[in-house]
Formats: sequence, C-alpha cells, structure tokens
Amino acid sequence: KQLQSHEVRQMFLDFFKEKKHGVEPSRSLVPQDDPTLLWINSGVATLKKYFDGRIVPDNPRIVNAQKSIRTNDIENVGFTARHHTFFEMLGNFSIGDYFKEEAIEWAWEFLTSDYWIGFDEDKLAVTVHPEDEEAYDIWLNKVGVPAERIIRIEENFWDIGEGPSGPNTEIFYDRGESYGNDLNDPELYPGGENERYLEIWNLVFSQFNHNPDDTYTPLPKKNIDTGMGLERIVSVIQDTKTNFETDLFKPIIERTEKISNVTYGQSTRQDTAFKVIADHVRTVAFAIGDGALPSNEGRGYVLRRLLRRAIRFAKDLNINEPFMYQLVDEVASIMFEFYPEVHEKKDFIKDVMKKEEQRFHETLQEGLAILEKVMKSEKEKGSNVFPGEEVFTLYDTYGFPKELTEEYVEAEGFSIDEPGFEKEMKKQRDRAREARQKVDSMQVQDQVLQQIHTKSEFVGFEQLAVDTTLD
Ligand code: ATP
Ligand code: MG
Ligand code: MG
Ligand code: MG
Repeated sequence: KQLQSHEVRQMFLDFFKEKKHGVEPSRSLVPQDDPTLLWINSGVATLKKYFDGRIVPDNPRIVNAQKSIRTNDIENVGFTARHHTFFEMLGNFSIGDYFKEEAIEWAWEFLTSDYWIGFDEDKLAVTVHPEDEEAYDIWLNKVGVPAERIIRIEENFWDIGEGPSGPNTEIFYDRGESYGNDLNDPELYPGGENERYLEIWNLVFSQFNHNPDDTYTPLPKKNIDTGMGLERIVSVIQDTKTNFETDLFKPIIERTEKISNVTYGQSTRQDTAFKVIADHVRTVAFAIGDGALPSNEGRGYVLRRLLRRAIRFAKDLNINEPFMYQLVDEVASIMFEFYPEVHEKKDFIKDVMKKEEQRFHETLQEGLAILEKVMKSEKEKGSNVFPGEEVFTLYDTYGFPKELTEEYVEAEGFSIDEPGFEKEMKKQRDRAREARQKVDSMQVQDQVLQQIHTKSEFVGFEQLAVDTTLD
C-alpha cells in the first residue's frame, strides 16, 4: 500500500524522534518575533532564536514539519511540477550538537532504508560545495554514493549576509528519462533548471560566521539546518507527474473539476489553472487561519494578489464567479490530522475569501475593459509599453495588483512602465502624508471584519513591509 502524505510527515518526525530529537510543533505562518520576515518561509525560520544563541534549547536536536510561504516562487506555481507558495518543510536541526556525518547518514537512512521510505539508491544523486571535501568524502566513502552522482556546485553555499553561513549539500531524485534525456541540455544535471532531477532535501552546514568585513571565520558551535519539501517527497513516493496529483492536492482539483465542469489532464493551459487555484487556495486559507487578512499592504497584499491571480486563471476554466471559498472544505479535511486550525476556522476563512472574491468580481469587468482599451490605443501608437499611470489606476481603483496587470499585458507582448507606476505610487503616498490621513491598517481590517458575521476570532496581525527569503 502506498504511503499517504500524513503518514510520510509522521514517519519523518518518528525517524528523528528515534534519533533523540525533540518535536517542535508547526508554528504560525505569521512571524511572531521577527520583524525582518514577512512570512515563515522555512523550518529554520521559527527556530532562529536557537540558531543565533538567544535561547538555549533543552534538547539541541530538533525536528519539525513547518508550514511555509514563499512569495518568490509565485510565478513558478502552475508551471513547474515542484513549486508552491504554501508548502510544508520537514526539517531536522542540530544546535551545536551533531554535524555533517550524522546529518548526511541519517538523511540517507531515512530515504533509502526499507523500514522508512525505501527509495532505490540508484535513483538518488547529491550536490556538494566544491570546497567541502568533508561532505564529499562522507557521501563517497561513508555512504557509498558513486563519484559520478556527487556533483560539485558553486551555488551550494548558504549565506544571507552577516551571521552564520556555510556550505550545503542537496539530495535529488532522478525521475527518469521521460522527464528529459537530452544530453545536450546544459541544465540537465542535479541542481540545474530541469524537471528530471527533483531537489528534495537541502542539508545546510552552518559552520562559519560571515563577518561585517565580509571575511568568514569558523563558528565555535556548528549547527545543522535541513529542509525537505513534503509535497515533493510525497510526489516521488506516490509516483505522480507533479506534486499536484498527490493526495495533498487531488481532492482540491477534483472539487474544482466539479465546479468548472472541466476535466483535469486534458490541456496544459487548463491544468496550469487547476494547479494555480489548488496552490493559492491552500496559501490563502492557511494564512487567514493564522490571522492575516486581504489588504493593500504587506501580508494582506500577498493574499489579495494570490486570490486575484487564482481568479484570473479560473477564467481558463470558464469560472466567472466566486468559487475559491468552497475549496476551503477540501483544504480543511486534507490537512485536518496535523493542522486542525483550518477546519476550526473554516467558516471564518470562507467568509473572508468569499467577500474578497465578490469584491474583485465587481470591478473585474470594468478593469479588463480598461486594460484592453489601453493596449489597443498603445498598439495604434506603435508602442508596446503599458503606461505607469494606467497600471496605477487599475491598482488603485479596480484592485488589480501591479503583478496581475503585468501578467495580463505580458501575455499580449506588452511590458509595463515600472518607473511611471512607482512615480504614481509615490505621489499617492505623499498625498496621504500631506492630508495626515494615516490609514491605520488595523482600521482597514476592522472594516473587513465588520462585514463578516461569524464568531471566529481574529488572532492578531502586524504590519510589515519587508519580504526576505532564505532562497
Ligand atoms: P528549488 O531550487 O527547487 O526552487 P530551493 O533550493 O529554492 O528549491 P530550499 O531553499 O533549498 O529550496 O528549500 C529546502 C527544500 O524545501 C527544497 O529542497 C524543497 O524540497 C522545498 N521547497 C523549497 N521551495 C519550495 C517551494 N516553493 N515549493 C515546494 N517546496 C519547496
Ligand atoms: Mg534549489
Ligand atoms: Mg535548495
Ligand atoms: Mg527556490
């Protein structure tokens, strides 16, 4: 019997529990004590307090399955087999305890032992940093990976500026020749931009301090930070073409099939729409569950943008009315075992989503008409640049996130006038400042909340403007 996603998640936690790790719960997607981060974007993001030494954990070995949001991957979603905006990262961590040897050997044991996942060893390949002879040696001599499947890659160095940094090693699964066998393809190697060698697990060895003067000195206490995408390993286990046919997404897609009367797997264009919708509904549902709300700034803007992007793709399935909110039922039941919060806040989440969908639909047609008109008149002038003021009007009056307008017009061969748009945005900020009408974000949320009639509680929200990822 094939493993289900919830079993894989549990196996990971159990495996590292056996290796004396303490299990940390999956924390809120909204960072609790980290103003540099818009969203929790990896397993380590919730453990920074241990990594930077602010807090010494009782047990230096930690394992978690952490819900994560990455906005830098939005454009990939629906087009690659492996990228999501919301995904779960499975990670084991060592705070000054074990180091490379254990991290590598345990990762291998988990993936290849028949008692655990049981992958065929011949299907796995790894990358290391060219100067990390230690990791190379462990893979080659301790684990026994053949030299031709240990690839040295310059990018395998984890560095986010000042602070802990170090080389990493990544594990890839070879999905076979049907995913690419063109030996002239310069990207066809583990770590290249291809769909054949699927990156499943990243092991980071933080062993240096990146000093303010850009020199590196060895850390007295070395840490291990790893992350494996649950959706990806499940797709290999369940042998699906992309992550979207796994049990983590399938029921969402099936519900969308029912709503749209379109069958999944018939056309690439429509499949992309199914995937975008399935991805974005998970992100928005979980984020609202963790206290974020659609708005024009910070985290709220990300939600607004994701919902509107999904609605745009839904047009390819002939869906022209609010529907995303219905899919929350599926998200809630798929994730119930490990994340009961979506189920518990289901009514509230659906209400927020439905209101946001309705609001967008009200202005969508008008906005689209403007888009068409502007493109037509620019074309007549022989221009393929979409004016910044129009991007701003669409944003400000019709609720079209800039990125959405961009995607629309790029499909027609246009580019947008970025500086022109920024100029309008700045003007608006100046106007707002002059009028001293500081729009308090909490006030905006209050307005949203007042339209919602459920007993669910709003669990807090901070306003932030910075988005950083560890990518
Ligand atoms: P990729 O090269 O495929 O974009 P990455 O190198 O950016 O992945 P890491 O930062 O190394 O990813 O994250 C650790 C692991 O988390 C990855 O090996 C992958 O399994 C998973 N992961 C990262 N980004 C995503 C995403 N957008 N969607 C799903 N899983 C992801
Ligand atoms: Mg990568
Ligand atoms: Mg990686
Ligand atoms: Mg990436």
